[in-house]
Amino acid sequence: MRVYQFAKQLKISPKQLVEICENAGIKGKTYVSGLKEQEISAIKEYIKKSKLAGKPITVTGTETVGEIASKLGLPASEIIAKLSEFGISASINDRLSLENIRNLFEAFGATLQFKKTKESYILGTAVETEQDLLPRAPVVTVMGHVDHGKTTILDYIRKSNVAAREFGQITQKIGAYKVKLKEGSIVFIDTPGHEVFTAMRARGAKVTDIAVLVVAADEGVKLQTVEAINHCKAAGVPIIVAINKIDKPNANPDVVKKKLSEYGLVPEEWGGDTVFVNVSGLTGANINELLEIILLMGEMMELKANPDRPGEGVVLESYLHKQKGPVVDLLVQNGTVGIGDFFVCGSCWGKVRAMFDENGNRVEKAGPSTPVELLGANTTPVPGDRFNVVSSEADAKRIADQENERRKQSIGSGQKVLTLEDLQRQIMQGTLKEFKMILKSDSLGSQEVIKASIEKISQASLQKNGPTINCLHYGLGSISESDILLAACSQAIIFGYNVGVDSKAEKLAKQHKIEIKLYRLVYDLIEDVKNTIEGMTKPKEVEVMIGQALVKQVFKIGKNQTVAGCIVVEGKVVRDSRVKILRDGNFIYEGFLSSLTRFKNSVKEVATNTECGIGIEGFNDFKEGDVIQVYQKVEEEAKV
Ligand code: GDP
Repeated sequence: MRVYQFAKQLKISPKQLVEICENAGIKGKTYVSGLKEQEISAIKEYIKKSKLAGKPITVTGTETVGEIASKLGLPASEIIAKLSEFGISASINDRLSLENIRNLFEAFGATLQFKKTKESYILGTAVETEQDLLPRAPVVTVMGHVDHGKTTILDYIRKSNVAAREFGQITQKIGAYKVKLKEGSIVFIDTPGHEVFTAMRARGAKVTDIAVLVVAADEGVKLQTVEAINHCKAAGVPIIVAINKIDKPNANPDVVKKKLSEYGLVPEEWGGDTVFVNVSGLTGANINELLEIILLMGEMMELKANPDRPGEGVVLESYLHKQKGPVVDLLVQNGTVGIGDFFVCGSCWGKVRAMFDENGNRVEKAGPSTPVELLGANTTPVPGDRFNVVSSEADAKRIADQENERRKQSIGSGQKVLTLEDLQRQIMQGTLKEFKMILKSDSLGSQEVIKASIEKISQASLQKNGPTINCLHYGLGSISESDILLAACSQAIIFGYNVGVDSKAEKLAKQHKIEIKLYRLVYDLIEDVKNTIEGMTKPKEVEVMIGQALVKQVFKIGKNQTVAGCIVVEGKVVRDSRVKILRDGNFIYEGFLSSLTRFKNSVKEVATNTECGIGIEGFNDFKEGDVIQVYQKVEEEAKV
């Protein structure tokens, strides 16, 4: 074949073909020169390569032989032949490794551009690098004492940042919402308070990046303010303080600052590193400044995520809707969730059928730090459950089944209760460096005394290279659910001095296997802590029930005090003992006997079949039919 004839076949000019011949190393050809069979294939090969060498071709590392062939514009047979040259036998539907795709591109002179996608992450061909991580919006929880204005502030932010048109349309809440500002976005968790925050943590979910601690300027630091601070500290979550109700005439922000400094939240102007903002949720004063500071802190924390990954997140809430089926309120934390994605969510699984934003608008995709309402789960997951996009329905089912099995087993056998004795053993083996505790007591006075003694024990232990004591929370009043949750996520033991245990807390403690130690004497409490830290063993004490009394009548003796008229039905009732109250078969309170009387005289002990009056510390809600169980500690040997 002559040059001009072949040029016609290739649909190019003879001049172009002569140039191509030169470039391909076939020198000295003119328009009319003849071309040998060998020269023709060399020209074809050259054209193919130079075509491919043009613009880069994108691959994701998840392609099959057929897909690579069509990307390269070559017949699949040619790819298969090349692969067999590499010593690989593959058919058209076989998936290729990224390495083999690279080798093919090189062999055909094509430029490869690798794009990481959800699929390539799922298949493990993509490896995340620093460059893949992009800034994401901070997730904020608003905390503080009841009535200090958390809801008012959240409402103000929501109203002033959601377009009026959209605001009117809001049909349901998602449990979180995203506020878009000029400088960036912020996600607010819609359920204020540290309880939900810690409940999530107890389930292993970290949701919050930053806490806004709301303190009313007229009331100052209160019980739940301190709780919130300690819960944040235990979780290592930074705090921004919003001193609220600044519009009130009796507002005194300086008093609040001074008090908070005692808890380690020292304002910047006093040499500390906590940011304080004076705000009013009612008038909206300085709320924008608060938002700016949140964004700034988020930036400094360098919060990042990779939007190209398969979506990951945490369940905020879930419920069963009559028409929609299981509804999951999801906070996407990393990657992107899209319609049609298969997912696992705790022990549930599904395929994303639809997603809605906080204003009820349909969304196709949800990236990092985005709350959505998601439809498509097979059942309702539990708040705090992890959500993960997976590659296939089969994978989703398999992983969900495994999780279901694991949960069933852990309910059956249960993890062990973490006891003081366990910690003591760990200390003796030298494996425990920090002893975590939570202390609840009846008064500030007793708290101070215990605190001082514990600090002394901790110092002394540190000097001997022993473990230190970290009291995560010192609080007043009975042991509550939030104390249990804090203990659960921190592996702490709860100590109560002259306080009882709320009935809900009691149940939760059993569920989370948390040990609660109650004391009547400061000395006993301190001794127990000291012995534990020093790794000293003393005869193990166990609690045994020594008697039961049935409530027959309830008497009001003071404004806030009631006494139960009882009959001792079993064993004996002894003054100062520890008691548990049973109602309809459920424990509703745990605490100490405060008074034991017979015919208005205080007595030490009352025997079976005898009537008596029983008062219980911190408990006045007796009902006829309640059973009071009386306990005493005895050394284990004495028990048998
Ligand atoms: P939460 O329990 O912390 O959520 O507190 P709320 O937001 O429900 O507020 C409790 C009360 O304080 C409500 O009556 C609010 O109207 C009022 N309140 C909240 N913020 C302010 C404020 O900045 N100034 C004044 N004067 N009142 C406020």
